[in-house]
Amino acid sequence: MRKLTDKFGRQISYLRLAVTDRCNFRCQYCMPAQGAAIVDRKELLTFKEMYRVTRVLSELGVDKVRLTGGEPFVRRDFINFLESLAFNDKLKSINLTTNGALVGKYIDTLEALGITNVNLSIDSLNKEKFNTITHRNAFDDVYNTLQNLQQSNINLKLNVVVIPDVNTNEIIDFIALTKNQDLAVRFIEEMPFNGKGLRETEQVWNSATILNHIQSHYKDIEQLAHKTSATSNNYRVKGYRGSFGIIPAFTRTICHDCNRIRITATGLFKNCLFDDGVFNVRDFIRNGASDNDLKKLFIETVSQKPKNGFVAEAARDNKVSESMSSIGG
Ligand code: SAM
Ligand code: SF4
Repeated sequence: MRKLTDKFGRQISYLRLAVTDRCNFRCQYCMPAQGAAIVDRKELLTFKEMYRVTRVLSELGVDKVRLTGGEPFVRRDFINFLESLAFNDKLKSINLTTNGALVGKYIDTLEALGITNVNLSIDSLNKEKFNTITHRNAFDDVYNTLQNLQQSNINLKLNVVVIPDVNTNEIIDFIALTKNQDLAVRFIEEMPFNGKGLRETEQVWNSATILNHIQSHYKDIEQLAHKTSATSNNYRVKGYRGSFGIIPAFTRTICHDCNRIRITATGLFKNCLFDDGVFNVRDFIRNGASDNDLKKLFIETVSQKPKNGFVAEAARDNKVSESMSSIGG
């Protein structure tokens, strides 16, 4: 049943749910080195509330959920929450985005729970540089997770935020990983969601620049067919096993077939990454909303989904500045 349709005919079937605003890293493009302000624990949605919201949305046609944060694995009992979510047979896929540092010992459990896709964030293959970007000494843990996920049945995508002057010289190294491995590497345009409101540099590394850079190195690149509602434009170096993609997160050229909504760790419902939140699901639930009340609100809200990320940003009361860790990437 697909009831969540906006006025441009886009059907919403994908929820990105931030399970926490806390994180064990301090990635330089995501938050200040001293960390972003975190909310009081009681302001976070409880797992029971998240389960309910997800169930209600699944009854309206949402069949894919991505659990993100902050870092999902820093929230206590996250694995138990995953287990309960896996019982919802309306969900065709439950995916995770993680920095990987705490994932090592859970890979078998993730497989057993039927988690099919994990996006692992890793912005450098160089230990010192990685540790400088994240302000943490965790490269070895993350790299072990990468290797162990590759040995598992879970589909692995690597998320690489392209940071001018920092890791642009590693773009080709990341693509080299796809030569013999069935791996998807996705380069993400940096956005100003970093707790400061400004991108760190005037240098433009947008999807076109990134692709040009790759094409100047590899002459034989094929574009892969665009899957409906895909978040990236995807390519393969001819003859390579894996693929690479570019996510135009900042230039926003993929809004036309967006199927996504977000709920932040405090329950803020977002129709678009770039809006500043439409209503708070947590308050609505805590004020006694029934499932039907929730459904009505979701249907009405989704119908107002802005045409694209530029329209959403223009309608904000405040400038984009919050950290991705509070929104859920
Ligand atoms: N902590 C987990 C992680 O890092 O994978 C999940 C949350 S994180 C906010 C989700 C994704 O957003 C990561 O791939 C991260 O690199 C990306 N991200 C964070 N801040 C960003 C920014 N300012 N611009 C572009 N991507 C960003
Ligand atoms: Fe944490 Fe992910 Fe933000 Fe890095 S990108 S600080 S790992 S939430």
